[in-house]
Parts: sequence; structure tokens; C-alpha cells
Amino acid sequence: MSDLPQLPDQSEDSVGAGADDLPPRRLLLVHAHPDDESIGNGATMARYAAEGARVTLVTCTLGEEGEVIPPELAHLTADRDDTLGEHRIGELAAAMKELGVTDHRFLGGPGRYRDSGMMGVASNDRPGCFWQADPDEAAAHLVAVVREVRPQVLVTYDENGGYGHPDHIQAHRVAMRGRELAADPAFRPDLGAAWDIPKVYWNCMPRSVLEAGFAALRAAGREIPFPGIASADDVPGVVDDSLVTAAVDGSAYAGRKAAAMAAHATQIAVDGPFFALSNDLGQPMPAMEYYRLVHGTSGAAAGWEGDLFAGLDLFAGLEEAR
Ligand SMILES: [Zn+2]
Repeated sequence: MSDLPQLPDQSEDSVGAGADDLPPRRLLLVHAHPDDESIGNGATMARYAAEGARVTLVTCTLGEEGEVIPPELAHLTADRDDTLGEHRIGELAAAMKELGVTDHRFLGGPGRYRDSGMMGVASNDRPGCFWQADPDEAAAHLVAVVREVRPQVLVTYDENGGYGHPDHIQAHRVAMRGRELAADPAFRPDLGAAWDIPKVYWNCMPRSVLEAGFAALRAAGREIPFPGIASADDVPGVVDDSLVTAAVDGSAYAGRKAAAMAAHATQIAVDGPFFALSNDLGQPMPAMEYYRLVHGTSGAAAGWEGDLFAGLDLFAGLEEAR
């Protein structure tokens, strides 16, 4: 990339060929199922991709245990054809096209870890499901990605996975453990040179913003096609405003986010600035997306950061990693 400073040629024993192609800003997101990324970070991903950042999405499962909204696709579910996972690979690809994100991967490859289903159901115990995975073994797959793309920013869920879904909790564990292991030069040198991600954020939704969104939904009244309205309990990562540290304004990319969410047609029904999951309860679709900085230093002099890369030396570490 022309923006990069002159760096020495890669030596023969260096790993992660492609370092020459790394742009100055690199964002890694770790999510549980196809659709979580568009709902939680769609505007952020579209904005940074449009601005030339490398946006890498790692999705941990194919979402095989999901419900299906369109009746004509109802046969895909786990209790019938059990082909929803393959179908959702296509939905995710279409969503990433809408967001302009070209680097999206499944942890360990597609189908390596199966969707565990909601907490407390029998599929939690199924061998091969993500909930049954050894976090260290799963994290090693992420270490390879971290050392290849050398992100400065990692985005994932809080320790409760935002709302207690086993795959979201496990995605949190794998993301946090993966960051730690990737930074340890003694861990699996065959996976590439150590890389210490300087900033880690957890997704969140400030309570006041959510309440305003629900008020807008109620005000829209009968104009919205959903039979009911969700509550704060249905929304992942709701926190007191005081815990929020960053807000990324993706207003210019609201349409892209809506299109990406609509691409996950088995999971999401989109209507204007609102959407519903398979429970048919309306939710607001904010183009402003919120984060909690849990590792690293805020780049904002005061108040919330507006840019997840704020305060970073964008070229730090690139030479040592080569
Ligand atoms: Zn999910």
C-alpha cells in the first residue's frame, strides 16, 4: 500500500506473507453466528472498510441451530434438513458484499464448530458444538488469523456474550484467549510472529439509546409490520451509559447495514430503521454503534472516543513482526 512507510524486505524465514499488503488500520471482529456482525457492527464495518481499513471478520459457527423466518425456507432447520449452516454461509457472503468487507472467515474453517443452540437445550452437549470446544484449542485458530492480519483493534462480546448465548460466551473466551496467546512468542511459533493487539473493545448498547429507540418504535405505531415490540432483555450488551467508552457514527452507512442485515434473510426481517428476529418483536436499528474499551488506552482527551483507532501509532510493531 502506498500509505505504508518504506519497510525492509521480508526475510525468507518471516511468516505471514502479505504483510506488504497490510493497510495502516486493521480491525478484527470475532462473532458467534452469521448475522451477529451485521446487527452489532454493520455500520462500523462498512465505515472502516470504505475508509480503506482492513476489516477481518471471524465467525465461530455456521448458525446451524437458528430458527428460520421465511416459510419457504423452513425445511432448512436442524430438526428437518439440517442444511441451515450451508445456507447461512451464502447469507454471510452476501452481507459482507453489502458492507464492502472482503476478509471473512470461519474459525478453523466452515463447519469446524457447530452452533450450540440457546443455553440449556440438548444441542449444548452435542460433540463438535462450539460450547464443547476447548477454548485453548479453538483460540489457536484465532492466533493464526491475528498473527497474519496484525489488527490494532479487536471487537468481541462481554464475558456474558452480551446476552448469555453459549456460543457468544465462548466467542468471548476464544477472542480474549486468542489475543493473549497471539502475543506470546513462545506459543506456537509455527503460526506466525507474535502480535499484541493494542486495543480490545466489547460491544454494548447504552440503556438510554435503547430506550430512545424503543420510544421511536412505539411512536411509529401501526406503521411497523411487527406484531410486537422487543424489550431491553431481548437486546444483547445493554449497559449503563457510564460503561460506554466509544461511539462509532455509521450514519452514512445505515443503508449498507440495513442491506447486510436483510441479506441474513433466514434470521432477520428488516423494515426501514427497524428490524425483527424470529421472535417477530420489533427492535430499533441504530447506525451509531457503541463499545467499551477493556484493554488499551483511550485516544479521546475527554468523553467517548469516536474512532476505535484513536490514539494508536498505526505503524507500531510492523517492522518487528517482519
Ligand atoms: Zn448469535
